[in-house]
Amino acid sequence: MSTRELHDQYLFPNYAPLQIMPSHGKGARLWDTDGREYIDFAAGIAVSALGHAHPDLVTALHEQAQKYWHVSNVMSNGPAIQLAKSLVEATFAERVFFSNSGAEANEAALKLARRFAHDHFGPQKHEIIAFENGFHGRTLFTVSVGGQPKYSEGFGPAIEGITHLPYNDISALEAAISDKTCAVMMEPLQGEGGVMPADPAFVRRARELCDQHQALLIFDEVQTGIMRTGELYAYMGLGVEPDILTSAKGLGGGMPIAATLAKEQVAASFGVGVHGSTFGGNPLACAVANKLIELVNTPQMKVQVHDLSRRLRSGLDSLNNEFSLFSEIRGAGLLLGCELAPEHAGRSRELMDLFMEQGVLALVAGDSVLRLVPPLVTTGEDLYEGLSRMTAAVKKFA
Ligand code: PLP
Repeated sequence: MSTRELHDQYLFPNYAPLQIMPSHGKGARLWDTDGREYIDFAAGIAVSALGHAHPDLVTALHEQAQKYWHVSNVMSNGPAIQLAKSLVEATFAERVFFSNSGAEANEAALKLARRFAHDHFGPQKHEIIAFENGFHGRTLFTVSVGGQPKYSEGFGPAIEGITHLPYNDISALEAAISDKTCAVMMEPLQGEGGVMPADPAFVRRARELCDQHQALLIFDEVQTGIMRTGELYAYMGLGVEPDILTSAKGLGGGMPIAATLAKEQVAASFGVGVHGSTFGGNPLACAVANKLIELVNTPQMKVQVHDLSRRLRSGLDSLNNEFSLFSEIRGAGLLLGCELAPEHAGRSRELMDLFMEQGVLALVAGDSVLRLVPPLVTTGEDLYEGLSRMTAAVKKFA
């Protein structure tokens, strides 16, 4: 029998998971091993785009599981080719590299940017510009590029040649970028860093400056991708195309898969043997992701996300009108952040725990922001029930 206590005995102590243990899920609802039901507005940290146990994803997984699970990159495989084709057809990109997590997709993007600059301009062009509070994963390169020092401290010298600037600060970017810059990397909406949307003028200027200095613009869409913000990828709403884009989380709906997307000329810098991954393009994960893209990338899904977003925001506004809990509710689509009012600053985890007690799973993005990322298939009933349970929690909190 696996109990929560055994987690603390056998696993590394690097997480602080909730005390409940999952039993099973369906759509936007999850049940624990004590039979309690939760409305899941955390979606496995913005991963379960189609909720839990979506029947079409279960079928896609079963069908592939009966054929073959893994061949590695010594052979190509149908599901990976099909997924790459779908991603290319749906985006600016012409080529795809598959890996297994957001951090790996970003690691590949960063290595690719450096290698491309090295190939075309020489080794002096290796500097990377990134942004404060940005989050790109936990490998040494991605914590070095991420703009939250707490994630890179204590791991020895960080990777060199990286500058962090304030997000949305056009003048700072104008001053910092140069012909030595090989890449500017940003999230089009910072997720972990507090649910902070990019200013469209800032993103447009970043594009211009990258073109001027022959630097590559990398969008980390690990959290914002797969219709999370109401567009298949958030760049589509900003009207600015990156040179490299990374996708993970929602892409597999819970299967570990990630993708690094680029134009042909950039991808060419990853020639044979330059980069790789044993599990990247795994057929099980790709089969599920193919089905997921087919279901998510539709006009109806886009309308549904915008509609759910509007209703969730209006529910949160009503809650806030009654309890004056938040100083701001921001974000896009189904990636919303509620900044706690100054008198409640630092209490986001406490509020999240109270939500859980009342049967709602939520997330935080820092000490003072509550983050809600419901599955795209959340129903009106789930939303209504979630909001009323949240109201009960807020009464206790306030
Ligand atoms: N990039 C962004 C924007 C993220 O939000 C995350 C995870 O939260 C990552 C990268 C890292 O992804 P993973 O945990 O799959 O490595």
